[in-house]
Amino acid sequence: KLSRRLMTVAQYVKNGSRMADIGSDHGYLPIYLARQGQINFAIAGEVAMGPLSNAEHEIKMANLTDKIMPRLADGLAAIKADDDVDTITIAGMGGSLIARILEAGKERLSHFPELILQPNVDEIDVRKWLMAHQYQIIHEDILKEDHHIYEIIDAVRADRAVHYSAKELLFGPILMHHQNAAFNEKWHDKIDRLKHAIKQMQGAKVPPVARIDALQAEINLIQEVLSDERN
Ligand code: SAM
Repeated sequence: KLSRRLMTVAQYVKNGSRMADIGSDHGYLPIYLARQGQINFAIAGEVAMGPLSNAEHEIKMANLTDKIMPRLADGLAAIKADDDVDTITIAGMGGSLIARILEAGKERLSHFPELILQPNVDEIDVRKWLMAHQYQIIHEDILKEDHHIYEIIDAVRADRAVHYSAKELLFGPILMHHQNAAFNEKWHDKIDRLKHAIKQMQGAKVPPVARIDALQAEINLIQEVLSDERN
């Protein structure tokens, strides 16, 4: 059974997609989708030999070797032109790594596949990359599972420039307008951590005033966004 996190990624993969799952590890996501009959073709890309072997094993066990191709490659290098990939999923890694993988593999995105991304942290880096490359965010989700809060971002190439404000990049253009319990928890936790950091700095012999002000400004920004929704 798939985690709720990967299930949320899976629900954005359209029926009949030709997908590449980059950093697939066990290949659970493409295996689930192929079993559901949701896809007939997937690449399970992995940069590391151990996870690639896991994927190969799981794909064989699931009798899906005709539909899912495990490939050892760094990032989007797993994708070949004649694969006709129209959907790329990248889940379970940091947002800055996801952005670096997209940037390094840009030439493999010339047909502008849909991008379904699940950064564990630094979501802002993913949104900045999407905006810079004219990708529009069409769905976002945030959920809590096993004591972690995860965000899922689904984006398609737009036909004109895309602009997100600083707030939208940080909080998510869709998430900030549909604040759920996980969103509230994530940002209240962030406020608590910032307050704690400020307290510690104030206890220093020479408190770093500028740094404290910056953290306080961040708290104010978060509080503004959290209270926006209530109004
Ligand atoms: N996508 C799965 C998920 O969400 O459950 C597995 C996530 S796992 C934590 C991250 C995987 O990404 C690891 O197996 C790692 O080897 C792989 N990875 C990291 N950098 C990569 C890269 N540049 N190209 C391909 N795979 C990469």
